[in-house]
Amino acid sequence: MEFRLIDRIRERTAQQREDVRLGIGDDAALLAVPAGQELAVAIDTMVEGVHFPAGTAPADIGWKALAVNLSDLAAMGATPAWALLALTLLRPDAAFVDGFAEGFAQLAGQYRLALVGGDTTRGALTLSVAVHGFVPPGQALTRAGAQVGDAVLVTGTLGDAAAGLRCLPSRMDIQATARDFLVNRLNRPTPRVAAGLALRGRASACIDVSDGLLADLGHVCTASGVGAEIDAALLPCSPALLGAFDEAAVRDFALTGGDDYELCFTVPAARMDEVRDDLAKLGCGATRIGRIVAGEGVRVRGADGAWLEPARSGWDHFAP
Ligand code: ADP
Ligand code: MG
Repeated sequence: MEFRLIDRIRERTAQQREDVRLGIGDDAALLAVPAGQELAVAIDTMVEGVHFPAGTAPADIGWKALAVNLSDLAAMGATPAWALLALTLLRPDAAFVDGFAEGFAQLAGQYRLALVGGDTTRGALTLSVAVHGFVPPGQALTRAGAQVGDAVLVTGTLGDAAAGLRCLPSRMDIQATARDFLVNRLNRPTPRVAAGLALRGRASACIDVSDGLLADLGHVCTASGVGAEIDAALLPCSPALLGAFDEAAVRDFALTGGDDYELCFTVPAARMDEVRDDLAKLGCGATRIGRIVAGEGVRVRGADGAWLEPARSGWDHFAP
């Protein structure tokens, strides 16, 4: 049974690549890293009931399991190449596997990413995806390079995914098109791979917003040994979000919601306009939300100019 499931996955995710010398089917895959490239490697796990609600469509789970990993490669400025998939299922559910593989393949195909192996076991529904990408030596974007005076920017819009989760119960009174948009942002995040590549050699630091802007920008500050000041009024929010929730809820979603998989990055102020123009051409756009300052931690200025004191800084799996 396990092997039939693996076959179904292999058929649905088939991708020809020169650098895959041996893919699914042996004891290990054999992969050729292109000469002169470094390998960027990341893994993320999604557990039903923790990272996605029970009842999420299998194709959405497949898309998202890959998207959250591609987002990590994007944040490093790496070009996606290969993935491994560890699949844990309560029972050998072919319909689930087909749907999952379809959603996974829809996103993988956009990057010619090859699924080269994995593991299939029985247990509570859990998906682990590991991704591998290429980056020229020394050019990876890290969290560590932000400098005092740099501008802080973010791609796309913030808060949509958290709002989507909030309006999942269909009893919430919200316009259907807005609800569909927000739920789609939750279930089918767009990894900002092209933006990450465009930021290579230009951004001084970069991170993807998975746990919430405050938490993730906080990681940049810690790694870089700096602080950041953000203006709540500058946070980019979608019309759907702004139309469906009041100002305080919008601000909370945008600052602490997480699951948006946008890139938050810093650039020297002198290069900001040029970088912003280039990201606009890529379709996601980028918005300046604040600046890097001496000190530590992230402070947020409210619309009235006073500093805010947010209740929580993001999602922490081991918080009490
Ligand atoms: P082994 O016992 O030697 O680890 P498995 O029976 O677990 O091998 O897997 C057989 C082949 O199928 C391997 O190439 C493995 O990488 C691949 N594989 C297993 N599960 C998955 C999965 N969920 N997705 C992709 N490839 C898988
Ligand atoms: Mg083996």
